[in-house]
Amino acid sequence: MKGVSARELARRLKGRRFESSRRHGKHLFVRVDDDLWLRLHFGMTGSLQYFKCDQRAPKHTRVLFTFANAHCLAFEDQRKFGEIGLAEDVDEYLRKRGLGRDALDISLWQFKEILGKHRGAVKSTLLNQKLIAGIGNIYADEILFHARIHPATEIGRLGEKNVGKLFRAARYILKKTIEAKADADLMPKSWLLPRRGKWGKCPRCGRGLKSVTIGGRTAWFCAHCQRPTS
Ligand SMILES: [Zn+2]
Repeated sequence: MKGVSARELARRLKGRRFESSRRHGKHLFVRVDDDLWLRLHFGMTGSLQYFKCDQRAPKHTRVLFTFANAHCLAFEDQRKFGEIGLAEDVDEYLRKRGLGRDALDISLWQFKEILGKHRGAVKSTLLNQKLIAGIGNIYADEILFHARIHPATEIGRLGEKNVGKLFRAARYILKKTIEAKADADLMPKSWLLPRRGKWGKCPRCGRGLKSVTIGGRTAWFCAHCQRPTS
């Protein structure tokens, strides 16, 4: 695993208890003790599975925690972009990594302030974890689709009304996604996410979706519903 060796993880966690958890952006912190937190980052395919230890562990288990109640917790991650580490102080860790505030913790006023200080394509800003933590590539596309904003729109051209729309769309999409446990099958049919891809059609107008590369990431959008701001 990146971040910590298996031996150190075992040495520092053996006999300890997971007490509480805290999420910030794409990181999950699990409190082990007063001065020790387990840090998990799920990458693209990482997840946690809790099960009775006499059942078989998931195929792509990277780390397996065994509890006194004969249950196990597997950190599985098929594509290995995830990360496990230890942190002594969560706030200090977040500061050192230069992570921005969590997307669900900021107010409209703070959101406006963050956008006001930056230039570039709106999508790149949404993805910049140092500005706002917690929005991934496919969710940035979903937020922009919902707000009907073209992903390449220059932030300075958004205007007050669109910034408000974007803020509300971000909260709505993230909250719904959490409710649906990020399962595309449980997401509303009006969303872009299940239709991303070459033959995908816009759930709103039925036209073919388009893609463009912004900041090195592929953006999917509807050129009809998300017109560039002129
Ligand atoms: Zn459309």
